[in-house]
Amino acid sequence: MTPTSAVTLTVDRCPVCGEPTPAEARWWTLKSHHRISEGELEYCASGCGCLVVLVNGEIVKSIPAARR
Ligand SMILES: [Zn+2]
Repeated sequence: MTPTSAVTLTVDRCPVCGEPTPAEARWWTLKSHHRISEGELEYCASGCGCLVVLVNGEIVKSIPAARR
């Protein structure tokens, strides 16, 4: 048996709103990235509409999708 869950970097839940994420979908879409003094700043949108801001791959800010 191969433990498939040990190597995955994909989340099975949106870290922002907790929405479950589809397993094989490409959940995060890179919107833009900038080089800053700390490294790489990236804006990513999730499949559920949340936005996260990452610095060097670490989430520094998250913006939940607007709920209607
Ligand atoms: Zn979300």
